Amino acid sequence: MDTHIVSSIDSSEFTHLTRTLSKSTVIGLDAEWKPVRSQRSTFPTVTLLQLACQIGDDSAGWDESVVFLLDLSSLPLPSIWELIKDVLVSPDILKLGFKFKQDLIYLSSTFRAQGGNPGFDQVEPYMDITNIYKFLQHKQGKKISKDTKSLSAICEEILGLHLSKELQCSDWSHRPLTEEQIRYAAKDAHCLLGIFKIFQAKVIKEGPLCNHVNEQHQSNVSLGLKGILEMPDCENKLVGRKFCNALDIVQATASSEECERIARGVEVIRKTKPMDESLWKIVRKYGEKLFLRVSDRNPKASRRKGKRLSSVVVCEEKQLENYGDWQGPPPWDISLGGDGCPKFLCDVMVEGLAKHLRCVGVDAAVPHSRKPEPRELIDQAYKEKRVLLTRDAKLLRHQYLIKNQIYRVNNLLKNEQLLEVIEAFQLKISEDQLMSRCTKCNGRFIQKPLTVEEAIEAAKGFQKIPNCLFDKNLEFWQCMDCNQLYWEVVYFLFSLILEMSFFSNTENTL
Ligand SMILES: [Zn+2]
Repeated sequence: MDTHIVSSIDSSEFTHLTRTLSKSTVIGLDAEWKPVRSQRSTFPTVTLLQLACQIGDDSAGWDESVVFLLDLSSLPLPSIWELIKDVLVSPDILKLGFKFKQDLIYLSSTFRAQGGNPGFDQVEPYMDITNIYKFLQHKQGKKISKDTKSLSAICEEILGLHLSKELQCSDWSHRPLTEEQIRYAAKDAHCLLGIFKIFQAKVIKEGPLCNHVNEQHQSNVSLGLKGILEMPDCENKLVGRKFCNALDIVQATASSEECERIARGVEVIRKTKPMDESLWKIVRKYGEKLFLRVSDRNPKASRRKGKRLSSVVVCEEKQLENYGDWQGPPPWDISLGGDGCPKFLCDVMVEGLAKHLRCVGVDAAVPHSRKPEPRELIDQAYKEKRVLLTRDAKLLRHQYLIKNQIYRVNNLLKNEQLLEVIEAFQLKISEDQLMSRCTKCNGRFIQKPLTVEEAIEAAKGFQKIPNCLFDKNLEFWQCMDCNQLYWEVVYFLFSLILEMSFFSNTENTL
């Protein structure tokens, strides 16, 4: 195991760390602290932070890992705060941990205590080894036991690796660390990468993530290295290598001033390498967000000594506070149809809104299944390049997965919701758009209206046209997708619009 102890920011080890971080795609996190025996008026101080960095991509056949042990008792915490924070929230790095919330609370309090920084309150994207283990158990058809296993038990089972827990409660504030402590600390973080690799291989092999490789990313593939790296069938190995080497050369030949600045950690220039396609898909499907509540900042007397918190708790109240209102800079992602007609995906709770949007000719799809999981919704929105409309604030926690593609509808009534969306997205509704879309399936209408005879023919064995309509000289419209015939659509539409008194100038033309 390639292990480095980082105890000063003026060291070559620190430079090695910052360089490695800029190339890492997956990082296993762990922290050690000196056990506190006194009453819990303070959190224990974290003295060691382990980062096991996965460089490159195992699925492409090349892969390296390095473990850094950050000695927090000698590193100046304010100087490395930004670097650590960057790592914890970088969308380019998947973070792995074993019940890391506890570690994050202590880590955060340690940083706050030494330098007045705000600490850390989130880790994303994140995956907990407990959940990965459950997934693997499930795939093997094993019954998932309710009690959570220890990391050493999981390690033993998945990797056949023995992880001694004897040193867990050793004195982690003592310096220098013993050889055993160093080995233990490195192993503890490094094994997370190993477990994730097994999971990753399984997920890739099973293939649901492999579909639609071509249809995705097509529009946002930028030319250059990023684009090349994301191409599924290119010589990943070669290109990946070249990319990393090039990065090394750039960093090695950077001016000494710049190197110094990087080394100081004062202004960390992180040119992160984007995740490759398959890892990105895993993150989108299984990634979590670790969030600390405000109440997590203070120790509670009621917590039993040494008891680890139950697995990831995502704080919904906090989410609501943060995402209560729409905050995206433009009302929608311009690349998704910035000509004023974005496409929408209406969550089950606002399905009625979908019909209303279709009435005014706006492309509004509904979820593929009746009770979609948040991930399915996000996936559909992402793949079909739609803005997800929802009233479910919980969905906004996944906002980082599809930037500017989730909008929380505030109004409760369908008509008001329609107005709200039209205003928020500055939709331009023209009159010829009004009868252009099937309210039933979101399909397009056949361009020209059908005559009564054509309509009768089209309706055969499919739809019953009430006799009373035949002498009314009505126009019929048919959907190209579901073949539904429409005749009341004109009446319905204009009544809706009148109700909303939205088209004040079309009223006269009725
Ligand atoms: Zn239709």
